[in-house]
Amino acid sequence: MLVQGAMKVETSHIVEQLDDLAEYRLGEWYFASGIYRGVPLAVSRTQWGLANAAATTALAMEFFRPVAVINQGTAGAHDPALQNFDIVIGKETVNISAWKSHFRARGEGVDEEALDKLGVFAYDKEARRFTQEVCHKADEGLFYAAAALKDRYTKGRVAEGVRGTADSWYREVGRVLFLHDFYGTAVEEMEGDAVAQICQTYDVPFLAIRVVSNTVFAGDVDWDLAVGAALQEYVLAVAEEYMNMR
Ligand code: SAH
Repeated sequence: MLVQGAMKVETSHIVEQLDDLAEYRLGEWYFASGIYRGVPLAVSRTQWGLANAAATTALAMEFFRPVAVINQGTAGAHDPALQNFDIVIGKETVNISAWKSHFRARGEGVDEEALDKLGVFAYDKEARRFTQEVCHKADEGLFYAAAALKDRYTKGRVAEGVRGTADSWYREVGRVLFLHDFYGTAVEEMEGDAVAQICQTYDVPFLAIRVVSNTVFAGDVDWDLAVGAALQEYVLAVAEEYMNMR
């Protein structure tokens, strides 16, 4: 199984717990592999953003041939009910920068909410071509394994929801509430849907799990990076549960 995180703080807690650790560099990106409680894991530090997430996922598919992929790390809340340390298991991911705005002539101003959803392209093995989809659904088996462990997490709530991905970080409460309504997103981050796209293309099960590190509903405050290790502990348990279920 492949577990991804964008940054060192989002992956080091997992890497430290691997037996038979091997470290790799593919391109300029960091990867590791090892054994966690009998389960063979590969770890990828993707770096921030969609392009890095997609490139590292494709490289890992070719190099490690994973049976499943979990993309995890920190995220910002779109759902006002979420607080730092709450975990969101992704039912689906959506690219929140994939839209088409409505035509307006010069001088007619800008309406940032007049949008149609576009979605992004991934290979569909039934249609045998790349198809455009707004949402990419999580694998049911992975989702089930993650949801089964909810009660074990004591540092916050474990919710289920939609994850929105863009190379953007929204800090206006109004914009966040619009995205929450428009896409139904619980959280935003910068990698999930790009990974889901590549996993669909390779026909490999995918799940997104994120921990809230910042919320605009708490005011103008910085993100809390301490949440990273709490999620990695949860993700290790999910990986073990899923691999033992198979
Ligand atoms: N801290 C940097 C921003 C980049 S961090 C700055 O202020 O310049 C981006 C990483 O954190 C990405 O891997 C992304 O997935 C995650 N992330 C956490 N909270 C986020 C949020 N509110 N919006 C977007 N990405 C977020």
